[in-house]
Amino acid sequence: MTRYIELFSDTKTRPTAAMRAAIAAADVGDEAAFEDPTVNALCERVAALLGKEAALFTPSGTMCNQIALAVLGRPGDEVICDRTAHIVNYEAGGVGANAGLNLLALDGERGRYGVEQLRAALRFPLRHAPRQRIVSVEQTSNLGGGAVWPIEQLDAVTALARGRGLATHMDGARLLNACVATGVPAARYARDFDAVWIDFSKGLGAPVGAALAGTRAFIEEAWRVKQRYGGAMRQAGVIAAAALYALDHHVERLADDHANAKRLAAGLAMLDGIALDPATVETNLVYFALAPGVALDAKTLCERALARGVRVGAMGPRLVRAVTHLDVSAPDVDVAVGVIGEVLRG
Ligand SMILES: *Cc1c(COP(=O)(O)O)cnc(C)c1O
Repeated sequence: MTRYIELFSDTKTRPTAAMRAAIAAADVGDEAAFEDPTVNALCERVAALLGKEAALFTPSGTMCNQIALAVLGRPGDEVICDRTAHIVNYEAGGVGANAGLNLLALDGERGRYGVEQLRAALRFPLRHAPRQRIVSVEQTSNLGGGAVWPIEQLDAVTALARGRGLATHMDGARLLNACVATGVPAARYARDFDAVWIDFSKGLGAPVGAALAGTRAFIEEAWRVKQRYGGAMRQAGVIAAAALYALDHHVERLADDHANAKRLAAGLAMLDGIALDPATVETNLVYFALAPGVALDAKTLCERALARGVRVGAMGPRLVRAVTHLDVSAPDVDVAVGVIGEVLRG
């Protein structure tokens, strides 16, 4: 197996030896019959963490988004979100295909739209228009470069949404990164959301799984859709054990990832040919552009960096993403900056 410094994504983490020991020791049962004690413990833990009545475990974050939106909306209804959102760009059209929902994508700032943008997007009720039903946010914003929605901005958006009778949904794939970066508790960020979920397979370092939370009635409906989508599992305690382990041991350490991301951004910003404002790096995602005049494109830069042992991802013709996580150390970051510098110099 080739070893390289893996900055492609925080999904690339491998379970640690201690996490594997927790997996091996897991008490299990039939998840779909609520007989798996480890899954049940995880669901209670996540519900409490997010300040909700109940939660359910799913194989992926994508499934959490798909289930939540299908429960909150009806075919022909509209979801308002940012144009960079995962539900718009990376779920294979599932919001339309599975839930039959229309997406209205706003042009926010680094993945975050403002309350006035939302107000301007609210439709005059008209038989010709889709019925607006759900307002969705992504905390942190992935394509927004790991940007954190400030709590005041979320409060303004949810107050307007709820005032108009709209449901609220939070894609919290990296919600705990936001919490660690700002000190705001997850339950506070999630307070005014009808549906909210966290992913275990990103920076938390578990091999698989996500959990969706809401009211008891919401989770009951969510279970029906989980069953329909083939997400009901059996002895899922083996993966829930990894998620529980991650909640115990891998949350506070996200601060290290954020420090490493800032270190990476500071290093990259010093290089000739890179356009990056390190002040925009708040969590563990670092996006940088190739400056005008640089002959390389993003794909070539990634190939040449990989040949030198550093893996970063092309996100556009001239846009590159580097992500820090528990398998990336501060010395790794320094090596990566050196390698990218060499590639740029030819
Ligand atoms: C990764 C991600 C998802 C999907 O999660 P999976 O567990 O990979 O299905 C959804 N939203 C955001 C913002 C993500 O980064």
